[in-house]
Amino acid sequence: MDIHEYQAKDILGRFGVPVPKGGLAYSPEQAAYRARELGGHAWVVKAQVHAGGRGAAGGVRLCRSVEEVQTYAASLFGRQLATKQTDAAGKGVYRLWVEPACDIARELYLGFVLDRKSERIMIVASAHGGMEIEDLAETDPMSLRRMTIDPATGLVEFQARELAFGLGLTGTQITQMVTILKACYRAYRDLDAMMVEINPLVITGAGDLLALDAKMSFDTNALFRRPEIAELRDRSQEDPRESTAGDHGLAYVGLTGDIGCIINGAGLAMATMDMIKLAGGEPANFLDIGGGASPERVVRAFRTVLADRAVSVILVNIFAGINRCDWVAEGVVKAYREVGMTLPVVVRLAGTNVEEGKAILQGSGLPLITADTLAEAAAKAVAARPNLAA
Ligand code: ADP
Ligand code: MG
Repeated sequence: MDIHEYQAKDILGRFGVPVPKGGLAYSPEQAAYRARELGGHAWVVKAQVHAGGRGAAGGVRLCRSVEEVQTYAASLFGRQLATKQTDAAGKGVYRLWVEPACDIARELYLGFVLDRKSERIMIVASAHGGMEIEDLAETDPMSLRRMTIDPATGLVEFQARELAFGLGLTGTQITQMVTILKACYRAYRDLDAMMVEINPLVITGAGDLLALDAKMSFDTNALFRRPEIAELRDRSQEDPRESTAGDHGLAYVGLTGDIGCIINGAGLAMATMDMIKLAGGEPANFLDIGGGASPERVVRAFRTVLADRAVSVILVNIFAGINRCDWVAEGVVKAYREVGMTLPVVVRLAGTNVEEGKAILQGSGLPLITADTLAEAAAKAVAARPNLAA
């Protein structure tokens, strides 16, 4: 789960990272008020969306008067901001962060990620911040420094100092950097984070370190024990198809095709998507309804898949091991009637109680298209798409 920049700054600030003072705004008037409240002569207004690359996309701007803050804020609110890190549709801007413009001498990069290879938290740092880490890895890979942290000792001082020296820091900056590194590490570890990124971490004109941007992402599976983090969730930044499915305990990932998939088991779902592609089609989604799919759950799965307007045919593929085909068939029939289905539906059942399942489908009198194998089901789904003959 991602959170906003201002929320990450608040969290990291409480762990000891120096962050700028600032104010949150939900309207242009409030943005102007925040600027006045902060005082000074120049402010940076920043769109709060769950994506980086806002600067280059016009979502971060230096404003030299309160009027400019308000005008720029008015142009941002309600807009969809598309950055290098979003899809073409972008993310809606409903909150702005206003902070004093900072006098920047240098921009550094600092990130904490989970390194699967060493099974440890890894620090990635570079003396050249500001640009995205992906670009940095391409244009200046030699500047990237990596360091893994032993969970038994935690981040130790000499390691932190070594990194600070490596970034070319001097004097009190070294102590400041050690504090920042330890704070980020503790925040990462204690809050079940998956990623902490400060880009840029700047050296100000006065020579002090300051986190001008912050990004944090959390392990969804650990949110049950981090209610204060779970609370920071912002549904406006999520794919509505995925959040609704998640609420109902369905593993759903939205895709760009038009063949809606209802499948049990992640492996079978992946295989089905491959077969659809092989047959010349494009899946609209990945959906795993799980092992014990009751008729009610199947109905929910139908609703979830149909919420995507691009769907033109539904493919149900169930291999019942724990599940029972007759249950799933009941669910399909129920869903078909409840949602007033107008699209073609292809059903392939295999496994436990398959004959009973098939009998229910046939006995329903509904115009369901049935298939015996996965390949047949995929081919029939592709063929059933209306008016898509290329
Ligand atoms: P993103 O990473 O989404 O583009 P950032 O918060 O990193 O957004 O802002 C982009 C750039 O804008 C930064 O690299 C920095 O140069 C500049 N910037 C951000 N905040 C401030 C600030 N308070 N004062 C001055 N410049 C800033
Ligand atoms: Mg940034």
